[in-house]
Amino acid sequence: MGVFDPVIELGRGLGETLRSFFFEKTVTYQYPEQKREVRPRYRGRHVLKRYENGLEKCIGCSLCAAACPADAIFVEASENTDEKRFSPGERFASTYEINMLRCIYCGFCEDACPTEAIVLGDNYELSFTDRRQAIYTKDLLLESVPTTEMITPRKTEEGVFTRSVPEMQDPRD
Ligand code: SF4
Ligand code: SF4
Repeated sequence: MGVFDPVIELGRGLGETLRSFFFEKTVTYQYPEQKREVRPRYRGRHVLKRYENGLEKCIGCSLCAAACPADAIFVEASENTDEKRFSPGERFASTYEINMLRCIYCGFCEDACPTEAIVLGDNYELSFTDRRQAIYTKDLLLESVPTTEMITPRKTEEGVFTRSVPEMQDPRD
């Protein structure tokens, strides 16, 4: 090794730093002001979806809880009436909870759901200071509605929302 070799290597290193500083796109995100876009198949925090008319997609069938390998989901169902309707069909989830400390984000709950009610979204901001905060209840998970008329429970026309599972054109949809 020559006496000038360390200086040459130092110069090369500095050159690399200057090249990336002036010519490369910045990859650092100024989080939390700037949030990174996640990949299309990313599995983040769950969301309980609604239909376009505001009714809840969840029918309280507990298939998600049965499919969950971590036993993270707790569902309790109650009966709908046309006077006080949450979801189409007979039943809705009166209690829906996910323990995020147990969840391994496998997506089995999403796959098991017959109405596509539970979906793993793109929210990755999960932090707790207390174990109890890790239990996400239905009001935290449920999608919000754009107008107050769409809020659940609400009164619906008699005999219209009789099917729990929507009719599908193609079973692969
Ligand atoms: S993503 Fe997996 S572990 Fe988490 S609640 Fe759903 S089924 Fe359970
Ligand atoms: S989220 Fe889906 S699978 Fe789970 S209780 Fe509701 S309808 Fe059933």
